[in-house]
Amino acid sequence: MKGDPADSVPEVLSVLVADDEEGMREGMRRILGRNGYRVDVADGGVQAIEMIDAGHYDLALVDLRMPEIDGFEVTDYIARRAGNKTVVVIVSALATVEAAVETTRKGAFDFLVKPFAPADLLSVVGRAERQCRLIREHEKYLVELDGERSLSRSLINSMREGVIVLNLRQEVVLLNPRAEFYLGIRSRPGLTSHDLGFDAGFSDLVDGVLSGETGERLVEKEMGQHHIRTRITPYVRGEEVGGAIVLLHDFTDEWHSQQDKNRFVSMVAHELRGPLAAILNYLNLILDGSLDDEPDRVRELLERSRSRGEALLELVGDLLFLNKRNAGRAEKSLEKLDLAQVLREELSFVEGHAARAEVTLSFEAEEGMFSFVADRGDMDRVFLNLMFNGIKYNRPGGTLVVSLRRTDDGSWFEVSFRDSGIGMTEEEMKNLFEDFFRVINSRTRTIPGTGLGLSTAKRVASEYNGRITVESEPDVGSTFTVLLPAGDESHG
Ligand code: ADP
Repeated sequence: MKGDPADSVPEVLSVLVADDEEGMREGMRRILGRNGYRVDVADGGVQAIEMIDAGHYDLALVDLRMPEIDGFEVTDYIARRAGNKTVVVIVSALATVEAAVETTRKGAFDFLVKPFAPADLLSVVGRAERQCRLIREHEKYLVELDGERSLSRSLINSMREGVIVLNLRQEVVLLNPRAEFYLGIRSRPGLTSHDLGFDAGFSDLVDGVLSGETGERLVEKEMGQHHIRTRITPYVRGEEVGGAIVLLHDFTDEWHSQQDKNRFVSMVAHELRGPLAAILNYLNLILDGSLDDEPDRVRELLERSRSRGEALLELVGDLLFLNKRNAGRAEKSLEKLDLAQVLREELSFVEGHAARAEVTLSFEAEEGMFSFVADRGDMDRVFLNLMFNGIKYNRPGGTLVVSLRRTDDGSWFEVSFRDSGIGMTEEEMKNLFEDFFRVINSRTRTIPGTGLGLSTAKRVASEYNGRITVESEPDVGSTFTVLLPAGDESHG
C-alpha cells in the first residue's frame, strides 16, 4: 500500500504486528483481523524493518524486547523513515514499562502492557487509529493549505502590479517580483518600509493607514523609466487593521499621453492667443479715437482683424475636427463621389478668396470617371486645405492649377495643386506634415495659419489609404499631390 498523503484516510487501516513470540503475534493478528484491520505480522525487528521498507502501514504494534533489532530501534527507524505517518504502539512487559514510556517520548504514540485482554488491545489500537486519522486529516489540510498558499503566491507573483505587504511594525512580509523590479531591491528578511526607496513621508502615510487614521492613500512617484502610482490600503483582519497592502501600478503610458495632451493644450492656447491679442490690439487702436481722422487706416485694421478672426475660426474648426477624430467620434457618411465634381465645387467655394489674393484658379481634369467612395467632409478637409494654402502662400498675379488624373497604371486617382507661390526650401519642408508646424520666414510671417492643415489633410488621406506628396522650390512654387486608391471603392 502506497500512502499518498493527499488521499483520504482509507476505511481499512493496515497494521503491522512485530513480535518474536508467535503466540502473541498470532493472537493480535486474530483479534485485529476480526475487528476489521488488515494485519501483517513480522517475527522480529529485522523483518519489521523489511516490511516497513516494502510498504506503508498506518499502525505498527511493536514489541519492545526483540532479538537483534528491538522495539526501540524499530520505532526509531519508523520515525526516521516514515516521519510520523505510521503510528507506533509499543508492546512491553511490565518489567520494561519505564522503557516503554521512554519510547513514547521518542515517537511512539502509546504503549500496551503484557499480558493484556483483547479489549485492552482494541482500546489502544482504537486510540491509535483516531490519532492516525487525525494525522491524515492534518496532512491533507496541510497539503491543501500549501496548495492554496502556492496558488495565491504564484498569482501574486504573476501580477502586473507590484505588491508589498507590510505588517504593523512596517516590516515587509511580502514583496512580489514586480515590486522588486520597480523598487530595484531584493526581498530579504528584515526589510522594512524605510528600505523601499520611498520618500520619508511614505512611512508616515503607512502609519496613518495602519493606525486606522486614514483610509487608502495614493502616491505618485518616478522610478527610473517608470511612473508608478502607489496605493496604500489597510489590510483588515476581523475588525482591526493587521497591516498594509501597497500596490504599485505602472502608469507610464498614461503619463506620457497626459504629457502629450498638456503639450497640445499649451500649444493650442499659444496659437489662440496670438491672433486674439492682435485683434484686441487693433480694436483698441480704433476705439481710443486716435485714428478717427484716418478712415482708411481704421478700415485696414478692421480688415486685419477680420483676417485674424477668420484664421482663429479656422483653427478652432481644425481643433474640433481633430478632437472628434481622436475621440473616434467622427462618423463618416460614405457616399460615391465624383472627384471632378467635388473639386469643381470646392474651387468655386474659394473663388472669392482667390480673387482677393489676386490668384487665378484653373482646373484640368482628364476624361473619364473619378468615382470615389468617401465622406464628403473628409474630401473637403483635404482638398480645401490645399487650395487655401495654394492661394495663401502665393503672390499677387500668381496661379493655382488643380488637376485630376488617373496614374498610368490606373490604380490611383491623382489630384495635384500646383501654385506659383513662395515655395519652400528642403529644410523648410522637413516637418511639414506635423501638427502646428509652420514655416517661419519673412514672407510667411504675415500669413495667418494654424499649422494644422497639412497634418490633418495627411491623416485624413491615410484613412482612405491615400497619401500626400510635395515638391517645392523657393520663389517658383509648390505642388502638393494627393493620391487616392482608384480600384477599391469600399474603404473608409
Ligand atoms: P497653415 O495653417 O500654417 O497654413 P498648414 O499645415 O496648412 O498650416 O501648412 C504648414 C506650413 O507649410 C505653412 O505654415 C506654410 O509655411 C507651409 N505651406 C503649406 N502650403 C504651402 C504652399 N502651397 N506653399 C508654400 N508653403 C506652404
